[in-house]
Amino acid sequence: MQRHIYLEDTYRFTVTTQVVDAGTGELGSWLTLRDNVFHPQGGGQPGDVGTVGDMAVRPFKAPGTDTHVVRLSCERLLEVGDEVTSSVDPEVRRRHAALHTCGHVVDGFVRELGFRHRVSNHFPGQARIEFDAGADKPDLEQLARTVEERTRRAIEDDRKVYASESGDLRLIGIDGLHEDPCGGTHVSSLGQLTGFSLRSVKVKGGVLKVGYVVEHV
Ligand SMILES: [Zn+2]
Repeated sequence: MQRHIYLEDTYRFTVTTQVVDAGTGELGSWLTLRDNVFHPQGGGQPGDVGTVGDMAVRPFKAPGTDTHVVRLSCERLLEVGDEVTSSVDPEVRRRHAALHTCGHVVDGFVRELGFRHRVSNHFPGQARIEFDAGADKPDLEQLARTVEERTRRAIEDDRKVYASESGDLRLIGIDGLHEDPCGGTHVSSLGQLTGFSLRSVKVKGGVLKVGYVVEHV
């Protein structure tokens, strides 16, 4: 079974491991490594980018498997059994983890105000969470002020981010705040976040859209 290091430690960027599977599909060549540091796109969070040896790779979830297997699309095939050093781009990893973790916090505080979550997008430059706006138009200024204040306070308090298991589910919790099922990468505590603000809060077609910006320290 593949070991997923990105689920254990956001800040481990490199592993030397073995190629355990390789092939060619519709989208080109791919490899599977025994120990995997790459987060594939999912749950609104973009995938990592990185290298195997000197070759650029991009992770994706292997289709049609019961277990969670991450493959790496690549320019040329390697042999099964080859030992390789694989690395994620640390800056991209940190940026994605910051945007995604901040998404948990903003999402939790908007839900506390009674809105139901619809969908998340944690891509750089377009991070936004959408909710059902409800029947009455909410007071958007008040909502923005409340969510921004609570998020800033949680960051100032440097609340810890932790993972736990519940059956087959991986739960991500933020100390004293929310706990949600998630397979993404997260900062270790909210003190790792800087430059947070809400960039837009609006309602369109019954959907409340809350956009934000944040960086990793
Ligand atoms: Zn998450």
